[in-house]
Order: sequence, then C-alpha cells, then structure tokens
Amino acid sequence: MSRSVTALLAGVLAIAALPAAAQAPTPPPFSATKVEGTDGVYIFRYQGHQAMFVVTPDGVIATDPIGERRPAAAAYIAEIRKITQAPIRYVVYSHSHFDHIAGGKPFKDLGAVFIAHKNTKSLLEARKNPDVVMPDFVVDDDGGKIELGGTTLELLYLGKNHGDNSLIMRLPKEKIIFVVDFLPLSGTQFRIMADTYLPDQEESMKKILAMDWDRLIPGHPGAGGRQIGNKDDVKADLDYMLDLSAAVKQAVDAGKSYAEAIRDIKLPKYEGLAGYQQNLAGNIERYYDYWNRGI
Ligand SMILES: [Zn+2]
Repeated sequence: MSRSVTALLAGVLAIAALPAAAQAPTPPPFSATKVEGTDGVYIFRYQGHQAMFVVTPDGVIATDPIGERRPAAAAYIAEIRKITQAPIRYVVYSHSHFDHIAGGKPFKDLGAVFIAHKNTKSLLEARKNPDVVMPDFVVDDDGGKIELGGTTLELLYLGKNHGDNSLIMRLPKEKIIFVVDFLPLSGTQFRIMADTYLPDQEESMKKILAMDWDRLIPGHPGAGGRQIGNKDDVKADLDYMLDLSAAVKQAVDAGKSYAEAIRDIKLPKYEGLAGYQQNLAGNIERYYDYWNRGI
C-alpha cells in the first residue's frame, strides 16, 4: 500500500470517528420552494439569502437576484425554468444593499425589466457597483403595483426603516408579504443595525402589523432553516426593539458609558433569539447613539 493511500484511509477513519453532531447534513446551496396553498408563489434560497418569485401564465415576477460574488442568478433562473418557460418579465429590488441585489445581469440578458424605489436608484448611481443592474423604472413614495397574468403585486413604501428605500411587497390575494432585512424570524437585529433609521423602523413594523397579510417571506431564513413567518414573528421583532430601546434609554439616563451599557444590559426574555450572543452589543450601541445623540 502506497503512503498516499494509507494517508487517505487514515483520513477516512478520522472522518468516520467524528461525533454525530459534526455530521449534521448541510442543506443544498440553493433551492426553490413553492409556498403552500398558492398557485405560483415560490421562495428562491441561495445559501443564507432568499427572494420571492411569482409564476403567472403571462410571465414571472422575480425579486432580489442575491448574487453578490456568487452565481445565484444563474441558479435562480434555472430553478424558474424547471417550473415554467414563460418569460421573466420583472425583477423588483427590495432595497439597495448589494448582498440582496447584485448579480442580476443574467435576468437583464433575458429582457427582464428592473424596478426599485427611487431612492434605491439614487444610491446605486452614487455607489456605482458594476455588478448591480441599474433599475429601469422607479417607484416613488406613493408606491405602485405590478399586474401580470391575474396576479397583483403591490410595491409599498412605508418610509425609512432599514435604509430609506425599502419596498414592502404584498400579494393581496395570497396575503403574503416579502420584506427584507428588518423582520428576522426569531432573531435579533443584525450587528450594529447599520443603515437602520430609528425610530422609523419601529413605526414601519407597526404599520406592517396593521396591514392585511398572513405570511411573511423574509430576506433570510430563520433558525433551523425556517423560511416563512407570520404576525407573531413581527410582534416579537417589535417587542425586542422596544424593550431594548427602553433598557438603553435607562442606561443613558443613568449616565452610563457605551461600555457600561453593553456590560449591564441583559434581556433574558430574548436569550433564545438567534444572534443574541453575537448581536446584542451592537444592537445596544445603535440604540445608545439614538438616545444619547439623537442619531
Ligand atoms: Zn439590507
């Protein structure tokens, strides 16, 4: 037996000896999943990002290409083509962040029309990322809607929240909304809540709770790969924000420093949320700026 084969066998044995927990199956890198009970609403997931798409007899409405530094759009189109050969008419951007909207060129090459909020387009023009397809049409603050093949998709602007250019997408017949990056499923807010407007985001959450919908598709799966949420998730997100805000305000009022606030604030009610250990300090810092400096 040659040395390399011996080494290989040793490697195989070492892998076999790993504890079961280390061998948990990894999900495939991408998937398209039909939303139960709908005619043609799907979730395309690529690693830890997801986007909604709607298949109608007259064509497809896609959203975020989620192709920053990875070939997600090609996989996205291939998944659509397994379902329908109808033209992909639209790509709607949820907001301006590159991890959700870069890499859309394969859709553009197929003739899709790109749509975004007007502030998204302004930001993209300023930032000039060559990998982001520029929107062809913009929606202003009054919002808009796409009607295609018997499906209506509302494009709603609720003001500033996560950035100043989020489009909340709602399928009124299916009572489904697609909202990206500020309504996590059983999770905290992300890191230092970059680009979060306070208290505007809290206001948007309240408006979304008051809207008519049953199911939420977020821009990232939640813990355990959960892909769809509901109003209880949004209520929990809002409660977390408001409880965190009150706790940080108290620390600021007491004259505590950033470091002291981060050291002292614990929210045991929310310990089970994904990201609690990693993100709480950053989330505190964001609210500290708000209460201390009005930022
Ligand atoms: Zn974002």
